Amino acid sequence: MIFEPQKYQISDEPRKPFISTSEIESILENAVANEKNVKLVIEKSLNKQRLSLQETAILAKAEDPKLIEIIKEGARELKKRIYGNRIVLFAPLYVGNLCSNNCKYCGFRASNKNADRKTLSIDELSENIVALEQNGQKRLILVFGEHAKYDADFIAKAVETAYSVKSGNGEIRRVNINAAPLDLEGFKKLHEAGIGTFQVFQETYHKETYEYYHTSGKKADYNYRLTSLDTAQQAGLDDVGIGALFGLYDWRFEVLSLVRHTNHLEACFNVGPHTISFPRIQAADNSEVRSDYIVSDEEFTRIIAILRLAVPYTGMILTARESAEIRREVLAYGCSQIDAGTKIEIGAYAEKFKSEQELKKEQFQINDNRSLNDVIDELIDQGYLPSFCTACYRLGRTGEHFMEFSVPGFIKRFCTSNAILTLAEYLEDYAPKATAEKGWELISKSVEDLVEYRNKEDLLGKLERIRKGERDLYY
Ligand code: SAM
Ligand code: SF4
Repeated sequence: MIFEPQKYQISDEPRKPFISTSEIESILENAVANEKNVKLVIEKSLNKQRLSLQETAILAKAEDPKLIEIIKEGARELKKRIYGNRIVLFAPLYVGNLCSNNCKYCGFRASNKNADRKTLSIDELSENIVALEQNGQKRLILVFGEHAKYDADFIAKAVETAYSVKSGNGEIRRVNINAAPLDLEGFKKLHEAGIGTFQVFQETYHKETYEYYHTSGKKADYNYRLTSLDTAQQAGLDDVGIGALFGLYDWRFEVLSLVRHTNHLEACFNVGPHTISFPRIQAADNSEVRSDYIVSDEEFTRIIAILRLAVPYTGMILTARESAEIRREVLAYGCSQIDAGTKIEIGAYAEKFKSEQELKKEQFQINDNRSLNDVIDELIDQGYLPSFCTACYRLGRTGEHFMEFSVPGFIKRFCTSNAILTLAEYLEDYAPKATAEKGWELISKSVEDLVEYRNKEDLLGKLERIRKGERDLYY
């Protein structure tokens, strides 16, 4: 530790609020962002140590373009040294947009009478899953408004449907959830249904701002939301995702709070969040967002570099809310998962033609409308290895981000090898010829890079079996 240790960690208790506004403000106020401090902090992160709030604050306070470049370079270096070049792909599937809350920034809020309300029936859900599978998707996140109808049984049924619907070689191998927090019994049910990550975003950790944006409905209770993932942990769901909606309050405060939330989960449950999400406010029908804290593109890219350095072993999710250009830049800072081929209008994956009135059906606008194959094609061109891997979760290797980070050779032995196998399946089943050709070239090169870590003959044998029609081979 180069700065004061975080004493409060020890006194955290499950389901007890843990964010102190004055503490975070004072840490930010006292942080000195000079070159010496910034470099010391980055060095610590590159040595595989999570940063304290004080250290994170130093990075967040840096304003000099030269320091910002040092931070971004640090994040690029961390990504290169630790994570290698694979990017995991997924698709969000909006199941229903009934909502009894009134989040001022969201197109689904109860008071937005313009919104077309829709909940997919099991048949419609199945049709959408088939469409996603026929595109090549293997990992989904099911998204729901907050409504009495979407209780644990309803969500569990949707999960069961997603796992059971198959189309040709297509199947969904991992289902994550983004829905309203559940109670202990509800979380247990979803754990039994075999979900991957359960995500709940705090939106803003600043209580006063939170109360301004959430005036009615269950979500208006700041502390209930803040501690909801503790309940998930107590129900045995140790795979949780946290997030903040950037643009509601000062981004520096949110970044420190995300680190604080990570510390809290680690202190109470010995395991940090599986993923961190950092959605940025987008235009939404009838939304009312104050302009004071809008995050610029430059700040947004900085936020991602700082988060990468602050929590080196947590997965980072970047969504199609962001444009292809921004996504290109920040992938280099260590985002580990992105969505692709995304449609957020309810039922749209199965629709042949989009309606003119899309915005009314959507929760917000997305800025990267490219198809899954376009994204894969570009990732390959840029030397990334697109991956649909779900092996760790299915083999019970939980805490995989920690392992990736801390077990020497883990990434090459497992993640890269499985990325190669799942990419091969995609190229065989779904890719147009041009993508398939360059994809197989990338695979040949990647196999060569693995010789020290993985028996080449074995990996080539598995690839040959995939070419001959076998599926779902993994390490
Ligand atoms: N209804 C559940 C909830 O609020 O937690 C889950 C689904 S909600 C549809 C998923 C996330 O979308 C929210 O947590 C919020 O961060 C994000 N979101 C809402 N409105 C948005 C907007 N206008 N722009 C970008 N993201 C938004
Ligand atoms: Fe409902 Fe979630 Fe939108 Fe809030 S963010 S209005 S809870 S769907």
